[in-house]
Amino acid sequence: MVDFSLDDAQLAVQKTARDFAEKELKPVAAELDRIQDPKESWDWELYEKANRLGFNKILIPEEYGGLGLTMLDACIVVEELAVADAGFATTYFVHNAVTRHVVDGCTEEQKKEFLTACCNDPEERYLMAIGDTEHGVAGDKSPRTYAAGKQLSGALDFNDFTNAETVPVNNQKEMTTFARQDGDHWVINGMKRFTTMGSRAKLYTITAKTDPEASDMDAAVATFFVPVNTPGLTFGHIEDKLGHRLTENAEVILEDVRVPDKWKHDWRMNLAIRGMSLNVLTAAVAVGIARRCYEEAIAYAQTRYKGGALIAHHQAVQKMLVDMAIRTKTSRLLTWFAAWQDDQAAGFDVLQNMAKVYTSDACIQNSLEGMQVFGGYGYMKDFPMEKLYRDARLMSIYDGSNEILRHNVIMPMLTATGTA
Ligand SMILES: Cc1cc2nc3c(=O)[nH]c(=O)nc-3n(C[C@H](O)[C@H](O)[C@H](O)COP(=O)(O)OP(=O)(O)OC[C@H]3O[C@@H](n4cnc5c(N)ncnc54)[C@H](O)[C@@H]3O)c2cc1C
Repeated sequence: MVDFSLDDAQLAVQKTARDFAEKELKPVAAELDRIQDPKESWDWELYEKANRLGFNKILIPEEYGGLGLTMLDACIVVEELAVADAGFATTYFVHNAVTRHVVDGCTEEQKKEFLTACCNDPEERYLMAIGDTEHGVAGDKSPRTYAAGKQLSGALDFNDFTNAETVPVNNQKEMTTFARQDGDHWVINGMKRFTTMGSRAKLYTITAKTDPEASDMDAAVATFFVPVNTPGLTFGHIEDKLGHRLTENAEVILEDVRVPDKWKHDWRMNLAIRGMSLNVLTAAVAVGIARRCYEEAIAYAQTRYKGGALIAHHQAVQKMLVDMAIRTKTSRLLTWFAAWQDDQAAGFDVLQNMAKVYTSDACIQNSLEGMQVFGGYGYMKDFPMEKLYRDARLMSIYDGSNEILRHNVIMPMLTATGTA
């Protein structure tokens, strides 16, 4: 039997996140968003409170000090955070995706080192960031993510995909961050772009080429854990963004950064696991934005009197409100389905890509229609739709552009018979 209801434990998680979002985050989000200098809008007090509630420990097993919860729980939390602020929620989607990756794809030594550090941080400031994207490569979202995942589940020969003429592969050839082995250490040089959390994370996963000549992709790329205090790790430009201003985005610069060999891990595993988790959690951010757009629009429509009636009674407005509600509920269903599948460890599936693509398009549409419901006030900065519109716009771009993700979805459709 299929059961879509949340159990008591899940409802408790949702309540904790909703209380924090409503009482702590939402009241200050608009003000922090308006700060001009992007270096000033990160609020450690908020992040520390959220971490004390366990939002950075959701997917970490109890044996390392975490909450030992599921991807569905993580999506429930991220949706609630995103209703209050999408940028803040994005910090937690990225961080939790990395923890999922460490749990499922890393060595026991790496788990003990980084998961325990996260759970025992006395400052409650332990956050993990992803350094994949460079000028030439938006690493984790090329079609090789799909291929890597399929091969993990044994369903596909990776080379079938890398050789396909239609697939823009070997993005890693455009990667300029390079790791050179030096005894039992690696020396990394390069630069990553757009890194969420910017300079604020305590741990960075850095993807780098290990052999510029190798044709075998396994041999050519690896991912390294780099703690923030590692000599040679610095930060460049802090991005001044349209939205998502409560998180930071920065260039991460690596100059002769030395990390021990034990902190290197398999890039294919990295891409496959993290790629899945990222997409599901990004979808949860989009659900939160879509929901907030609907909540704001339905409330406003019942207060604004125009044309002889409340605008909520005009059929044209009603259509927008209904469509926004349908998009929100469909987005949540697809996200929870993808999260459930992620929790089954059933292997990579295009469902995660589908969830990210659908929900991000849906929340953008909700932000457009929500603004339309508000009329002229929707365009004003002291009304909520203007920020939601800016925050929504990112969703089809980051975590793999929707064009690339649609490509990931179509590939297995073209190579196998099946049904939707
Ligand atoms: C706010 C923000 C936060 C981010 N956070 C992180 C982070 O924490 N870590 C990280 O590593 N990265 C991060 N990114 C990077 C993000 O994942 C990339 O920006 C995104 O994947 C798109 O890559 P790009 O910017 O290089 O665009 P491009 O790849 O240059 O794309 C430009 C356009 O071309 C299209 N395109 C490109 N290639 C193809 C193709 N093969 N087929 C069809 N169309 C194509 C794209 O869809 C897009 O429309 C972040 C980006 C932003 C804006």
